[in-house]
Amino acid sequence: MANTHPIPELLAPAGSLEKLKIALSYGADAVYLGGQKYGLRAAADNFTYDELKEGVEFAHKRSKQVYVVLNSFFFDSDFLELLEFVSFLESIKVDALIVSDLGVVDVIASNSHIPIHLSTQASCLNSQSGKFWKDYGIKRLILGREVSIHEAAQIKKATGLEVELFIHGSMCMSYSGNCTISNFTQGRDSNRGGCSHSCRFDYDLIDDQNKKSSFFMSSKDLNGLSLLDDFVKAGIDSIKVEGRMKGPLYAASISKTYKEALNYYSREQRIDAQKLSYFEQELNKFTHRSYFPGSLDTPAGLDSVFDERDHSKNQTRVFGTIIDVVEDKFFVIDSLTKILPKSSIEILKFDEGIIKYTIETLRDLNDQELESTRPNQLIKVPYIPGVAKNNIVRVLS
Ligand code: SF4
Repeated sequence: MANTHPIPELLAPAGSLEKLKIALSYGADAVYLGGQKYGLRAAADNFTYDELKEGVEFAHKRSKQVYVVLNSFFFDSDFLELLEFVSFLESIKVDALIVSDLGVVDVIASNSHIPIHLSTQASCLNSQSGKFWKDYGIKRLILGREVSIHEAAQIKKATGLEVELFIHGSMCMSYSGNCTISNFTQGRDSNRGGCSHSCRFDYDLIDDQNKKSSFFMSSKDLNGLSLLDDFVKAGIDSIKVEGRMKGPLYAASISKTYKEALNYYSREQRIDAQKLSYFEQELNKFTHRSYFPGSLDTPAGLDSVFDERDHSKNQTRVFGTIIDVVEDKFFVIDSLTKILPKSSIEILKFDEGIIKYTIETLRDLNDQELESTRPNQLIKVPYIPGVAKNNIVRVLS
């Protein structure tokens, strides 16, 4: 049966050129990333001019898109180099800019033809606001995380604009971008790329008699996979994953899982319970806090607080990357961590499925047997059909 609803774009984070290539190779339709300035993730490996150019070329060769974030809070001095940067981005054919400040929108709209997406930092939560931004040349609204899927559909209908909603990742306990806890507790400005995630810290709550330690401001992580049907039927144009600061295993796993879920939905027009359970298991295989659906269905409440000691739950860690494949003979893994013989690994294929394999004997490139691996050691594994160069390999923890 033909699918009657367009399948949303899968938009993944790219905190570095390596993660851009991983996310796009594992199924993301588009990535968002920051340059050296203006991008709200000061600690990410933000892209140099050369890396931006290479990243856009890599994406466009695969008919995929690159969006560049310019969504930090701007002061007058920040405008001095803005035009030069925008001209460069236009010259390398970046697909859109993600912007929150009206002055920045004005400069870009007046001086370039690059489509502008309104950043979630602008906290657009309603149709009136959306219409206002439309008049200023915005093509897509990245709605605040407080907006439900149903409300997003109404905003799309009322404005005629594309809408993008977060489906997965870490959450702010405040309205996105309107938080200064980090500024005042750590001297690091949340709205200029320096957030220290102060809301995740353990705080002492003290009244007259009692003192209680609590993570009372820490939010669970968003996971909207079970609502994929609602996203599609509501006509959401792009589903976005948070996490530019997270590692290559996250970039691979999240892109692969959501792409496979979207492909499955496209074929079957639904995701049955068994398949949903499989995808949920995959989303549990990397470090995260407990999941919840945010405000995608009903407004988030008290149950959104992640007040647990165990900050992370993960069942796998990255083992390495396949750097060479000699068909029918062997492949080579560049290992990042120590493993022992008889370790169970999982190879994330670029197409659907995962290869599970137990490495009975560890061998180096000279076929010498190893007692264990060490970081950056190259190990040789007998060929398995389906493996490919640059596949990410994870190991069960
Ligand atoms: S401190 Fe927490 S709530 Fe505030 S901006 Fe940072 S992540 Fe968001």
